[in-house]
Amino acid sequence: MSVVNSKEHHIPPFAQDKLGKLVIDENTLAQKIKDLGQEITQDYLGRKILLVGVLKGAAYFMSDISREIKLPLQMDYMAVSSYGTATKSSGVVRIVKDLDLDLSDKHVLIIEDIVDSGLTLSYLQKYLHAKHPLSVETCCLFLKTGNQKVDLDIKYIGFEIGQEFVVGYGLDYNEIYRNLNSLYQLNQDQM
Ligand code: 5GP
Repeated sequence: MSVVNSKEHHIPPFAQDKLGKLVIDENTLAQKIKDLGQEITQDYLGRKILLVGVLKGAAYFMSDISREIKLPLQMDYMAVSSYGTATKSSGVVRIVKDLDLDLSDKHVLIIEDIVDSGLTLSYLQKYLHAKHPLSVETCCLFLKTGNQKVDLDIKYIGFEIGQEFVVGYGLDYNEIYRNLNSLYQLNQDQM
């Protein structure tokens, strides 16, 4: 059984002592994803669109936003691993899973969970541009304001959030917490 906190918010028992502040609740996430989906649907009308989801963090976002884009689309996934600690990326990126589909006649839309320094996304954008698709744009759900170390072009942004480390809705700490429906800070003593 899950408990309900003062905001009528369900947190499963395994996570109850581990989480800090609720950052974005599941209804707010769902509404924003609907809005982003509508905007993308209008922008890409009549164009061949390929969504490129970045595993594993963007798995839920990819699943939800793809169903809010009311167009015929293709989906593919990449997995990258970024050298660094559990909470900070170094910008040195290794491709763990590459694309299966050919990009030559596609408009590519990168579906990314969170951008912090921006180094991972910058690498991915360059990598995908080099395959010469018709276009490359990015849709990122969470952007950590002011942390970017590189200039980035991000066409669709869900939420700008603070610098704190967050988990839930696909985002992990040591591979745990991805399956929470909302986005939370992690208790400092868990890190
Ligand atoms: P960047 O290269 O932009 O610094 O980092 C991007 C990657 O770092 C994300 O794809 C994600 O894997 C990880 N990351 C950055 N900030 C957070 C955070 O607050 N929570 C979690 N779970 N991962 C994060």
